Amino acid sequence: MTDKNNIIDRFISYVKIDTQSDESSNSTPSTEKQWDLAKKLTEELREMGMQEVSIDENAYVMATLPSNVDFDVPVIGFVAHFDTTPDFSGTNVNPQIVEDYDGKDIVLNKEKNIILSPDYFEDLLEYKGQTLITTDGTTLLGADDKAGITEIMEAMQYFIAHPEVKHGKIRVCFTPDEEIGRGAHKFDVKKFGAEWAYTMDGSQVGELEYENFNAAGVVVTVTGKSVHPGYAKGKMINSMYIAQDFINSLPRLETPEHTEGREGFFHLNGIKGDVEETKLNYIIRDHDRQHFEARKEVMKKLGAEICKQYDRDCVTVEIKDQYFNMKEKVEPVMHIVDIAEEAMERVDITPLIKPIRGGTDGAQLSFMGLPCPNIFAGGHNFHGKYEYVPVESMQKAVEVIVKIAEITAEKFRK
Ligand SMILES: [Zn+2]
Repeated sequence: MTDKNNIIDRFISYVKIDTQSDESSNSTPSTEKQWDLAKKLTEELREMGMQEVSIDENAYVMATLPSNVDFDVPVIGFVAHFDTTPDFSGTNVNPQIVEDYDGKDIVLNKEKNIILSPDYFEDLLEYKGQTLITTDGTTLLGADDKAGITEIMEAMQYFIAHPEVKHGKIRVCFTPDEEIGRGAHKFDVKKFGAEWAYTMDGSQVGELEYENFNAAGVVVTVTGKSVHPGYAKGKMINSMYIAQDFINSLPRLETPEHTEGREGFFHLNGIKGDVEETKLNYIIRDHDRQHFEARKEVMKKLGAEICKQYDRDCVTVEIKDQYFNMKEKVEPVMHIVDIAEEAMERVDITPLIKPIRGGTDGAQLSFMGLPCPNIFAGGHNFHGKYEYVPVESMQKAVEVIVKIAEITAEKFRK
């Protein structure tokens, strides 16, 4: 349907532009260089014949593909992010193309002996005979999420070239700073004007996600009393021991290393302390909203109990909600998931529906009034030098986008 070489060329032209985001920056986009790709995409959307092409002061790029039917169809949207993670270099990305992959080791970098091997990354074997795009072993690839952008662009191009394919109005948006958790922050949902949307930001073919964690960050501050250790009897209060009590009172098996699927956890991800004061940093994660609230309660109560035990105000527990499970917002409009599922089935993909053990921009957007499940973009091993993407997976994603639009129009035909 879509030409493989066009996909490859487009994708490579995007990954060659360094768009690494930076969490230490307060501006939007967090790095100036993200403008380079944002502007290029704006140009390309205009050249392609998209309407209402805009780029705002925060580098959010939006565009419209007008409806080509004479009945009302809900406006739907497709969203992808153009930044890459701060965790790994995205400078001078030099993509390698492996045609007709034979299922063996791929030497990414001979000099440095960096090898992409199916012994370690078994998923590779699913792509035997396909065309893979890999890194040269020195940078990430940026399929997260330039594969998503490529797919949305190719789908729009396809619609423009094939007016016989019927669809309602489609909006697209490309955002900065997803990787630092801010992709949705300055997203103008009203201006976007879609009834629902999909982020093209998942991994392997078939992924379809509309459940993610509820998430909170917790800072536990324990205060002690520092006294000269030689004369401390009956006087010193060592905050580190109290902190230890706190840690040991939480269920040891409800931690990331002991949980999977829909099991939630308390995660201690930092301790800093001395006699006088100890700070514990936790995150709480749970798909179930009630369990999530209960976990917050457990921590608060534990703090209060320890205060009672020591007969002093020695523990404070500060909890900040970070994001919520989009399921709450998607379930009332479940047809948006059904449509994506049906689209996949129609192009011979088995949908893989599973809860995300993390968050997505779609979760934030869902709570901002734009229900937004996540669909595969095709890449694997995000955020590092072993990142790769099969071109056939990107082709499949383009087909899914097209089918979603077609099915939406079909469903609302009078
Ligand atoms: Zn991503």
